Amino acid sequence: MSESTKNTTEKKTQSFNAEIKQLLDIVIHSLYSQKEIFIRELISNASDAIDKLKFESLTNAKLIPDNKKLEIRLAPNKETNTLQIIDTGIGMNPEEVTQFIGTIAKSGTKAFAQMNKEMKSKPELIGQFGVGFYSAFMVADTVTLHTQKAGTDIGTIWESNGDGTYSTESAVRPEGFGTTITLKLKKHNTEKTEDGNEAVQDFTDEWTLKSLVKKYSDFVAWPIQMSTSTEKENPETKVKETVIEDQTLNSQKALWLRPATEIKPEEYNEFYQHLTHDWQTPAKHVHFKAEGTTEFTSLFYFPSKKPWNYQMKDYEFGLNLYIKRVFIMENCKDLLPPYLRFTKGLVDSNDLSLNVSRELLQQDRLVTVIRKNIVSKIFSTLKDWLNKDRTEYEKFWNEFGTTLKEGIPTDPTQVEKIQDLLLFQSTNSDGLTTLEEYVSRMKPVQKEIYFITGERLETVKQSPYLEMLKQKNFEVLFLTDAVDEWVTQGLTKFKDKNLVSITKEGLSLDSEAEQKEKETVKKAQTERFAGLMEKMKTNLSEHVKDVVISDRLTETPVCLVSGQNDMSANMQKILSQMGEGAPRGETKRILEINPNHLIFEAMIKADDEQLKNWSEILFNQALLSEGNSIPNPVRFSKLIADLMISSKNH
Ligand code: ADP
Repeated sequence: MSESTKNTTEKKTQSFNAEIKQLLDIVIHSLYSQKEIFIRELISNASDAIDKLKFESLTNAKLIPDNKKLEIRLAPNKETNTLQIIDTGIGMNPEEVTQFIGTIAKSGTKAFAQMNKEMKSKPELIGQFGVGFYSAFMVADTVTLHTQKAGTDIGTIWESNGDGTYSTESAVRPEGFGTTITLKLKKHNTEKTEDGNEAVQDFTDEWTLKSLVKKYSDFVAWPIQMSTSTEKENPETKVKETVIEDQTLNSQKALWLRPATEIKPEEYNEFYQHLTHDWQTPAKHVHFKAEGTTEFTSLFYFPSKKPWNYQMKDYEFGLNLYIKRVFIMENCKDLLPPYLRFTKGLVDSNDLSLNVSRELLQQDRLVTVIRKNIVSKIFSTLKDWLNKDRTEYEKFWNEFGTTLKEGIPTDPTQVEKIQDLLLFQSTNSDGLTTLEEYVSRMKPVQKEIYFITGERLETVKQSPYLEMLKQKNFEVLFLTDAVDEWVTQGLTKFKDKNLVSITKEGLSLDSEAEQKEKETVKKAQTERFAGLMEKMKTNLSEHVKDVVISDRLTETPVCLVSGQNDMSANMQKILSQMGEGAPRGETKRILEINPNHLIFEAMIKADDEQLKNWSEILFNQALLSEGNSIPNPVRFSKLIADLMISSKNH
């Protein structure tokens, strides 16, 4: 601590926790080819900080003194080999410094620790963990941050050389509020060039900095300033002199306000990365201007991969909201329904009132109109994508399809739109199918769209419920996402065709003519097995509510089906896994027997004791063949063993 600095307190040194140490280790050693992106990360943070200040000042004008310029400044120094990034943003108070800088971006720490192995092999994943600030350690031996929160007079100096510890001390920031980050640059910062060689990158070099700002941060809304030296001829003496001038390095033109035709794909990608801190390129972008009831511009993206925290509670969705170019808030949830939460981007409205509070936003009629517009644009984009670039759409579907499907049960007004965007696995092809394509393949005699729900694709593919449908060449959709149970409740018809579960009672696959033809046989079978089925029903009364003759089996002796209005077995399983609803078995199902199976001829001749045991074996087999567990495996094994022994004795 220097003697001359007033208002300073004792310097405190603390250790980073183990996860941050690991993270730093990776940041320092593996992110080799992309070191220069630290500049984008730090400028992004600075720009966010000014946005926040500007927003606060909407309700507290005193925060920004009249003559204060809001800007980001780069200050390179060749002699000391340092680079400073200085902003007049909101700054941080001491608690925020420890909270934001001392720990890795929030719950990211945990996710990072879990994904560590994968991360090591794919350093580009790190970007998704919000290492933002830590990227400074890729190029610097020592990072010093001096920050002071607007409206306070307590500053904090934070310093670390990335070796596992950091220090903090209080010190007033001479310039007042804002943040200065000083990077003591490494002696040699090298990067891989395209031909595989190494080139030295000097981050104190004016030209390097200028081109990096152009490349990564041109659209930042606040001026990025740098004092530059240029050779100029003195008009009087005609002698060339070095002049120091302040230069703005970015055009500051909000990307979304430029005409789409003039924006290069790289610019859209860079902007996405600036917005989301995701280092990967997005799968798609949509840029449009709405006119009519309300005027706004939107630029949104679909990421190519799920964000790392997508499944976590703290995943925040929504679009960033600007009003006449002024940043209002990040992740405005009111602009997107939750089932489109994979969409990232922004809305800039011309009509919303600037002093709208975040709370009032929800009730604003205009917000509802904007949201409607966006939702419909997302649907039309997806539809178009599906029609024009199936391969890419399928990649998107594999990442975010389960999320999109949630719209069916949660937003009945949009079912018509969403149903066209759905893709399914099915019996008919290896690939994915739309409902439209399914219908186009339907046999003339086929009346309905058939589906089966289940936990795993492999199990439903083998399911005995498919036997008769396969024989008839009727296609069946495989629905194996948990959300599908809710989807099938919300989507009962497509065009004029019913969607029918093949695991429910009353499945009728035969045409009227076929039914007539089989009538006599069926009648005879019903008569022949009536007594047997009655006995089986009594034996299994604890487990099933009825025993009937099946239409859907050709090889398997038995299967269990749910009543028309009962919950499917899969749904019961999902609910009990979620700790909700009835445990398995509370809603009894119906046992269907295959009248053509020889087992039942044998069973007619069995004595009561045998019949009891065999009924139990068959019930257990039905459970096993649908991928379920059985209530008493030990007893089941014993029954089978007894059966084997008795067959040997005959
Ligand atoms: P991210 O930006 O993804 O949240 P960072 O590690 O880059 O992650 O930053 C963590 C937090 O530290 C930021 O969310 C912000 O609150 C704070 N922060 C970083 N840089 C600045 C800055 N220049 N001014 C004010 N706050 C900052």
